[in-house]
Amino acid sequence: MTAVKLHLWINGQRAPSSGGRMGEIFNPASGEVIRQVPLATRNDIDAAVAAAGAAFPAWRDTTPLRRARILTRFRELMERHRDELARLASEEHGKTVLDAVGSVQRGIEVIEFACGVPHLLKGEHAENVGRGVDCHSLLQPVGVCAGITPFNFPAMVPLWMFPVAIACGNAFVLKPSEKVPSCSLRMAELFKDAGLPDGVFNVVPGDKEAVEALLEHPDVGAISFVGSTPVARHIYETAARNGKRVQALGGAKNHAVVMPDADMAFAADALVGAAYGSAGERCMAISTVVAVGEAGDRLLPLLRERAAQIRVGRGDTTDVGMGPVISQAHRKRILVLIGSGVEQGAELVLDGRGIDVAGGERGFFIGPTLFDRVTPDMDIYREEIFGPVLIVLRADSYEAAVQLINANPYGNGTAIFTGSGHWARRFENEIDVGMVGVNVPIPVPMAFFSFGGWKASLFGDLHMHGMEGVAFYTRTKVVTRRWPAPAEHTGSSLTMPTLG
Ligand code: NAD
Repeated sequence: MTAVKLHLWINGQRAPSSGGRMGEIFNPASGEVIRQVPLATRNDIDAAVAAAGAAFPAWRDTTPLRRARILTRFRELMERHRDELARLASEEHGKTVLDAVGSVQRGIEVIEFACGVPHLLKGEHAENVGRGVDCHSLLQPVGVCAGITPFNFPAMVPLWMFPVAIACGNAFVLKPSEKVPSCSLRMAELFKDAGLPDGVFNVVPGDKEAVEALLEHPDVGAISFVGSTPVARHIYETAARNGKRVQALGGAKNHAVVMPDADMAFAADALVGAAYGSAGERCMAISTVVAVGEAGDRLLPLLRERAAQIRVGRGDTTDVGMGPVISQAHRKRILVLIGSGVEQGAELVLDGRGIDVAGGERGFFIGPTLFDRVTPDMDIYREEIFGPVLIVLRADSYEAAVQLINANPYGNGTAIFTGSGHWARRFENEIDVGMVGVNVPIPVPMAFFSFGGWKASLFGDLHMHGMEGVAFYTRTKVVTRRWPAPAEHTGSSLTMPTLG
């Protein structure tokens, strides 16, 4: 099979790279290289930023209502092409098509939110802040904004960023993961078909070289990043040092507390979906269960039974619940971590190593894996595994469970399973995590709320989409004005003006 060669998308058209470096895109289910993608050079980034910079003034001056109409057409096209995008995501990532459809849909909902931009960009106004003096605020676009995205949501994570940025009047340069660039390139074509002027949205697949060029480019005003914590920290520090506003979302280790008063069958169903869906490669996957008191002994057999029933296979076949992981290197890393769990004394309840998938002998498969009696010093607790491995820790009390979670460096998502409003309410209040579920295992906020974790899961101040997204992609300007009456002279004063 010859691999198709992809391209960059600059100034509303396909463009070759100025360099010769290519990345290989695998189908993780077959292990085959299915596409090749140019890796953008510094010159390519310069070209993309220049195109965005040239398109920005006219786009900024396009009324929010007209921008919203283009976004509405884009949303309609995205809905029409939702299954095509889901197939692309499944092919390059490995997740099941059904799962991919859900994630594309969640991304489309951000466009839907951004269609309300005329309302979202309304500032504040106050009459008579001083005698005859009125005050109002304006939300103006930042300029050229850039996004850098991970492999695990080929459509949804880019959609957290660029629809809101563009709706607010910015031009955008997207650097998608070099492992899964096809959805982003296709979305750029659809956005053009919806009527977006050339240069407002550019897509530059690439690796570290492209990222560094964006971080250093003087004409880029804001950087949005989603990916692993070490890279997120680097992005945050470098972009801030270069005077840009920055939001950098990092990795996760999401815990679910299961209280003894929870409905155990309900909790087990929810946890198995949250742990093994997308082969555990979700930033909001539940990878860690903290079973309180006697909950553990009742929960474990239910988890094991359900996890063992998951059908593993190609994401584009029916009845499959879980596909492969993204790469051979990632598969090997997960296998090493599973081995370390055994060596360090955890109880391996279900072993996904050595799984056979008919027709997927060269694919990057690992079966559902379940550990019990894990302790915080073990590598399988300390590391973000990002694979189909669920670990269970035991805690004596609700307080011990909360202490454990709050001591963890990550703070992306968490959940509590309980039948008691008392425990749930305390948990909401006491937990140091950005997104919290009560009997909801993957509490991903809807588009009209904002998405973001705490601690090592997010560097920066503002979360993505929702009103925090609007705040990130706009600068506030406050105007104070007086219209003096003819010949009204107040005289000059050298004291600090107090308007009241
Ligand atoms: P990654 O950090 O390896 O890559 C993310 C992006 O950064 C990619 O575009 C990549 O090309 C670029 N990149 C990689 N290494 C770089 C480097 N040294 N310098 C500059 N740029 C670099 O992440 P990934 O493997 O693609 O995605 C998985 C990670 O993303 C997991 O840690 C997961 O938890 C995290 N994630 C977090 C969220 C969230 O909302 N917090 C959402 C999705 C994924």
